[in-house]
Amino acid sequence: MIFGKSKIKLSFIMRILILAVFLLSIHFSCQTYQKKFETGEGSTMVGAYVDYQGDVDFDKYFLDKTMRVDFYHTGNASKEMFAIDQVLNDGSWSGSNTVLIDKLELGLYFFEVADAENNILLYSRGFASIFGEWQTIPEASERWGTFHESVRFPWPLKPVKLIIKKRDANNEFKPIWSTKIDPEYRQVNKAERVHPEKVNVIVDNGSANEKLDIVILGDGYAASEMDKFRSDATRLSNALLNTEPFLSQKEKINIRAVETPAMQTGINKPHHGIFKHTPLSVSYSAFDSERYALTYDNKSVRNAASAVPYDFMVILINEKTYGGGGIYNLYTTVAADNLFSEYIMVHEMGHHMAALADEYYTSAVAYEIPEINVEPWEMNVTALLDKDNLKWKDLVDAEVPIPTPWNKEAFDKFGYAIQRERDSLRANHAPESIVEDLFVRQLSREKEFFLQEECYGKVGAFEGANYYAKGMYRSELNCIMYTRSNDFCKVCQNSILKVIEQYSK
Ligand SMILES: [Zn+2]
Repeated sequence: MIFGKSKIKLSFIMRILILAVFLLSIHFSCQTYQKKFETGEGSTMVGAYVDYQGDVDFDKYFLDKTMRVDFYHTGNASKEMFAIDQVLNDGSWSGSNTVLIDKLELGLYFFEVADAENNILLYSRGFASIFGEWQTIPEASERWGTFHESVRFPWPLKPVKLIIKKRDANNEFKPIWSTKIDPEYRQVNKAERVHPEKVNVIVDNGSANEKLDIVILGDGYAASEMDKFRSDATRLSNALLNTEPFLSQKEKINIRAVETPAMQTGINKPHHGIFKHTPLSVSYSAFDSERYALTYDNKSVRNAASAVPYDFMVILINEKTYGGGGIYNLYTTVAADNLFSEYIMVHEMGHHMAALADEYYTSAVAYEIPEINVEPWEMNVTALLDKDNLKWKDLVDAEVPIPTPWNKEAFDKFGYAIQRERDSLRANHAPESIVEDLFVRQLSREKEFFLQEECYGKVGAFEGANYYAKGMYRSELNCIMYTRSNDFCKVCQNSILKVIEQYSK
């Protein structure tokens, strides 16, 4: 017995020791990893140097199919690391064959694909990720998190290096990970995927390589509700295509819907005490925010989406509860039955397709405003640090003063009152229609307010944007990135136009 007891004690101490060594080794490997990144001499890292020669000849370097690199993105508030999950054939290539280098350089992250032998940059794209957002919430200071992510690029004929960069404190992209990928390596799965999903073409304007391709998936639609899914997909596609700049660029866009029927209707709603398993695992309450709907099941989503060629992705949620989300170059989610579903669709596509910032700020009032000393990289907001070089100065009329005066105090007073009313409705679990009525009231009062403003409809620099009530500016009084209105401001429209160009040449 005594022996037995001491054996238990020993094994307990051993376990603690092993754990301590393990934790230390993680700590040190992170540290060396970071250092290796900086010096580029790590054995798991390949040099991050690339030789930029502009867009290369597609056929010389690529096959007409998509390579998808799935990886785990792990970290906490201050550290992050990557590990490959799988490299596979993700169907035919949908992007442009001529615009391969991303000159827009949007997003928190950026990836580059370069020829492993001569370092010539072959393909690049900016993106954002759930990890990138998660890293900024308090939870990331308390524990580690792992997220499954993918990057997609045309299938290289020869070995390439993949480099992932992230913005530093000055918003400049710096390499944080790189790895070599040999398309002939046994672990690279070249098999064509067989897709059992039913596909519906909503808009077909021609070859995927010369058009911007949107795939629409659905979550929480039961097998008996596929007619509803198709009708929701058509209705929300029309909402997008009837909004500028999509309206005048209609012929450059393809939209296809892929059916992923669920066993039951509706999705997971933890704040409402409703729990469900659905094919794509979309859930409200992402980051514990009641109306933020995301899925972390990247693999299932990507596997369904690649039933068709796609550049951008929408996931319709078969729910009335207000909510959605949009992450640059990942996906948009939309509560399809909400009275404001068309607004949610268009607004979130602004985030997803063009990395537009929110132009609203009402929720920031409760926080202390940090000093802003770096210009935000998003195309539709500015810190106005250099008044003479306003990023949208070409659109500003000479007579409009910068910053542009507006009756902010009165507008904000009304906005905060609405916010309080909304919070109390939510706390009391009011029916969705009551919240919708409040939003309708808000919208009509806002419209009246804007009509009385001297600079309504003009491009300038209006204080209040990007969650900052002060020190951050938007270009027009109103925009779909500011209120639940219907139209993008001119700056947002121009930004989206640049993205459409990138995918339809
Ligand atoms: Zn805007």
